[in-house]
Amino acid sequence: MKNQTVALGDFELTAITDGTYVADGGAFFGVVPKVMWQKKVQPDDMNRIAVGCNSVLVRTGKQNVLIETGIGNKLEEKKKKIFQSQEKLLENLHATGIAPEEIHVVINSHLHFDHCGWNTVYKNGVAVPTFPNAKYYAPEGEWKHGSLQLERDRVSYISDNYDPLLRSGQMQLLGGTAEIVPGISVEAWPGHTRNMWAVLIRSGGKTACYISDLIPTTWHLDVTWVMAYDLFPLEVIENRKKYYARAIPEEWLTIFTHDPKVPWAYINKVENKLGFKPA
Ligand SMILES: [Zn+2]
Repeated sequence: MKNQTVALGDFELTAITDGTYVADGGAFFGVVPKVMWQKKVQPDDMNRIAVGCNSVLVRTGKQNVLIETGIGNKLEEKKKKIFQSQEKLLENLHATGIAPEEIHVVINSHLHFDHCGWNTVYKNGVAVPTFPNAKYYAPEGEWKHGSLQLERDRVSYISDNYDPLLRSGQMQLLGGTAEIVPGISVEAWPGHTRNMWAVLIRSGGKTACYISDLIPTTWHLDVTWVMAYDLFPLEVIENRKKYYARAIPEEWLTIFTHDPKVPWAYINKVENKLGFKPA
């Protein structure tokens, strides 16, 4: 996917991808029968689908804010092979004309490895910040949960993505709702995990929302099409309904974290059927 840019009031948003990676189709669609989901996306002969890893650069005019940092390049070789990660975020960022040193703020919606991988890179075997001048923000409950290293999801939490930044004071953990910079705020939207954030971007009376893994792709608009990864599937259903009740009438631009083709769109409801129109 090539970089795409839209204006949002006085802000400029650019969707930049870390490339695609492959995931088990069943894991992405949970209890949804394959005969149904394969009408939306074709799996390969190992039942894998290619999904995107979308970040957003927000240029507010005063600051450059990067929402989410993809998978990164620190995975061990075996995992790189399994996920076929492409490690494209920095070259796609370069194409925007913004250098890593010029990023002022990095926001991670949650701390799963495919959302905060480029927070750090290895230099002589030590994880150092990819964005040396940025202040990083992540949900406090995410870090606490990740540090428990529970059987269910410990593979998703790789501490080199965030612990070195916490130790140096470059990352700040926050609770539920906060304004990070004027016009950019975070809200807790539980379901995928207990403490995952959506990132709301507001300027000139317009709103865009990085809803992260609550609605990971345009394939997942149906409230019951919940991923097997989701820790609280019933809350995903309720919170998708709550999201649509705000985002549809207020015409929010919804940003999809894992859609390989549609980084953002306006969700709509026509004759009671959820759909979307491109930005
Ligand atoms: Zn996740």
